[in-house]
Order: sequence, then structure tokens, then C-alpha cells
Amino acid sequence: MNLKALQQLQEADRSFHLHPFTNHQEMHAQGTHVIVSGEGCFLTDATGRRLLDGLAGLWCVNVGYGRKEIVDAVQAQMTRLPYYCSFFNTTNEPAIRLAERLATLAPGRVHHALFSNSGSEANETALKIIRAWHKLRGKSGQTKILSRSFSYHGVTLATASLTGLPNCTGPFDLPLPGFIQVPAPHPYGANSPLDLAAYSQWCIEETARIIEREGPETIAALFVEPVQGAGGVIVPPAGYLMALRQLCREHHILFVADEVITGFGRLGAWFASGLWELDPDLITLAKGITSGYLPLGATLVSDEIAQDVIRSGYFSHGFTYSGHPAAAAAALANLDLLEREHLIERVRGDIGPYFQRKLREFAGHPAVSEVRGYGLIGALELLPRSGKPGLDPANPLGAKAARLAREEGVIIRGIRDLIAMSPPFIVTTDELDQLFAALRRTLERLWQ
Ligand code: PLP
Repeated sequence: MNLKALQQLQEADRSFHLHPFTNHQEMHAQGTHVIVSGEGCFLTDATGRRLLDGLAGLWCVNVGYGRKEIVDAVQAQMTRLPYYCSFFNTTNEPAIRLAERLATLAPGRVHHALFSNSGSEANETALKIIRAWHKLRGKSGQTKILSRSFSYHGVTLATASLTGLPNCTGPFDLPLPGFIQVPAPHPYGANSPLDLAAYSQWCIEETARIIEREGPETIAALFVEPVQGAGGVIVPPAGYLMALRQLCREHHILFVADEVITGFGRLGAWFASGLWELDPDLITLAKGITSGYLPLGATLVSDEIAQDVIRSGYFSHGFTYSGHPAAAAAALANLDLLEREHLIERVRGDIGPYFQRKLREFAGHPAVSEVRGYGLIGALELLPRSGKPGLDPANPLGAKAARLAREEGVIIRGIRDLIAMSPPFIVTTDELDQLFAALRRTLERLWQ
């Protein structure tokens, strides 16, 4: 695209387009970065620059860009039937086939899917099903919802209320009443002197205390991201999630695994719930279900909950695009690719371990204070030159590092004073070397 055409686009963007999670003044001052195409792990922007996408879009383009198999499947479906709803006793074939496929892939007892268009909607749907289910069982007072600090579950009023990040709740006067936070296993973020194991043990004990304080009979569910993504790639220590799960079981609190990021292979298993034997009552999914090619969310519910919903009569929830045939066709083609190319096995046994090894080489770097990761997701906590944590909300190190990394040719995500990465599953060792070399240059420049 020539410079004039780009400037016109940026001008239109500035005039007419509000962006999600963006400081508009800062973006307008720089000019919006316009991405025009993608192939494999690389994006090309409007100036013709190629960038290695170390974040897979927004933790989602797991099979990489330009996968003709998905494009062809969507085109064929759109030619045959571009839309039909799943309301009022109807549906379409791809929606059924996808529900069936998810039932065979999902771990444990969650064999029924309700489709939506995003992770937020998948969690919102989970919240409504949970509320309706407790009511059906005569427990109308069981409405409170637990979630963890540093969690990210979406942006609707209710899912932002689940989210444990002050920047997502403060400006909107959230959380809504009845949403209660318990601590996450993140001693670094909590400024705790305890090590991960000891802090996580305290988190379990504190969660138990909060449950007692609130009254277990008033608590409907706990929402958990097995690895917390947008909160800073918080990886639980062995045994912590199982203890949390057990606590819920003891108190008849439903356990919801938000696998919007971890679902479909990022940890080297189809689902974290299977990997860590969490036996959730509900699983929420989005992102990797279509590798981001089309919007799609899914809420998987246990057989027990599904049977009660089915028996309850008319179920008044769902979206115009629930089970959209083109999105379902994209998901089916994406799952075919994951299986045919053994991409999840690749994350588990090959590229995931390589990624973690390279990531951990930063452990001794003077600008890095903590390294976290699992499978093909990771983060580096950054330090300013003074050696003290940055912790200046007006000038976070993460955003600065992400800006410099983009200049160095790679896309990563800045969060507070950390950087996060989650490359596509098809990334090669050469590409990872390129990513980490760019990161080293970035960290050198961060201190200049
Ligand atoms: N849950 C998790 C764990 C997420 O990471 C996200 C998005 O990043 C969401 C829910 C919300 O998904 P969406 O942006 O599709 O609404």
C-alpha cells in the first residue's frame, strides 16, 4: 500500500473507529498500525514490513495464517448455506457435527455444547446456565460467583465482573454485586515474600476462608483459567488446581474451566482440564476453536446440567449466531488440521519444550526478574535498570517492550511490567530463534 493510501486509512481510523483496549490518543499520535496479510507465522503491515507474530493474533491463530483448508471449508459452507439459526427446533449440519466432535474431544463429563460468538459470550452463557440450574434445583439463593485475582474472563458486565484486573472493572464501577474474588497463585504480582508453593497453599486456605465467610450455600460456581493468560501468564504449581477443585466439590460449588486460551492445544493437550484432571462441570471455549478464522465461542456443560436444562422446558438463552454454519465449518476444518498435522503433539513433545528452554535462558538476564510458561505460552517479568520492579501504571515496561519488539520485527504482548508470548503451533525452531533474538535486542534497548 502506498504511503498516501495508508495515511488516508489512518485518517479514517482516527475519525471513525473506536478500538478495544487502546489508548486512542497515543495510537492517533503514532498512526494506527494496519496489518494487511498473513502467511504462516508472519504478518505483513501496510508499509510492507514483515512481522513475526509471537502472540498468534490474540492467543488464537494456533494453526497459523493462510490455511487454505479453513478458507475452502468456509467458502463451501457459505456457498451452500451462509446462515441459519439454531433457534425454534432447527439448526444446521456443521453446528451438529461440531457439537458431536467437541463431545468426543472434551475431557470428563462435559458432552453438551451451547455455541456463541466469543469468549465473553461463552462465559456469560455459563453464568446464566449456572444460575438457571441452581434455581431449577430449588437453590435460588445460590448465586454468588467466585473468580481469582488477575483473571480475565471477558468484557460484558457480568464477565468483566468475573475479571480480576482493576483496569477492566474500575472505569465501569464493577464488579456487580455477588462477584467475589479469591487470590491467584501469583506471589510475584501480590508482592508476597512466599515462594510459589507456599503462596499457593495460602491461596487455597484463603479461598476456603472466603467460602466459609460468604456461606458455601450461597456460592454457585468458581471460574478458573487453568493458566491465567491476560493477567500475565500465571502458571499454577502442581497440586494447586486439584486442591481448588476439591474445595469446590466439598462445598457443592460448580467448577468452571475457562479454557478460552488453553483449549485446543496450547499446553500440549487438547484441554488443560484433561491434562490436570480437573473434571470441570463446565468448560468455556473460543479463540483456538477456529484458530481465530471466524468468531466462535462454546460453553460445554456436564451431562447432569444438560439433562436438567433439557427437562426444564423452554430454554430462553442463545444468540442469533449461535451455531453459525460458517464458523462451525471453520472450527471443523481447524480441528482437522490440528489432528492431521499432529500439532498438539508437536506442542507437547517438540516445539513447546524448545520454546520453554529458550524462554528460560532469560532467567539470568539483568532486565528479567521472573520467567513463567507452559507448553507454548510464556512470559518474562521485566525490571527497570534500577533493579526495582517498575510498577508505574502510567509507564509500564511491558507496553514499552512490546513497542520496541515491534520495531525489532516481532509481535509480543505487553502487560503491566511483563511481556507475554504464545506463538502459533506451527512455529519452527528457526522462527523461535528469531523471536528470542529480537527479544534480546528489545531488552537491551529497554534499558537505554
Ligand atoms: N476468557 C479468557 C481466558 C480470555 O483470554 C479471553 C480473551 O482474551 C476471554 C475469556 C474473552 O474472550 P473474547 O475476547 O472473545 O470475548
